[in-house]
Amino acid sequence: MEETQQVQEKAGKYMLQHDRPNCIGCAACEAVSPEFWEMNSDGKSDIKDGKNRDDGWQELDLEEKDFQANKEAADSCPVNVIHLVRKDTGEKII
Ligand code: SF4
Repeated sequence: MEETQQVQEKAGKYMLQHDRPNCIGCAACEAVSPEFWEMNSDGKSDIKDGKNRDDGWQELDLEEKDFQANKEAADSCPVNVIHLVRKDTGEKII
C-alpha cells in the first residue's frame, strides 16, 4: 500500500493541460510561470517538457509543489485554455 502511494506521488497529483489549438499566443502564461511555460516560434505557448497529444493539446504531470505556479498561469490566461485536473478524483479545478 505504502509503495503504491509513493508511486502515485511520484507520478504527480495533478494533470496540467493546454488546449493549444485555442491558444491566442498572448504570452501571459510565460510571464507568470516561465519555469513551466515558454513561447514557441509558431506564436503559441508550450508547456515545457509537456507531452503532445494527437488532438493538439499538451499535458504534464504536476506535483503538489508545482500546482500554485500553474494555477496562476491558468488564472492569467485570457481565453481559459490552461486547465488543471486532480488525478485521483478527476476534479476539474480550472
Ligand atoms: S496565457 Fe493562454 S492564450 Fe496566452 S499564451 Fe498562454 S496559453 Fe496561450
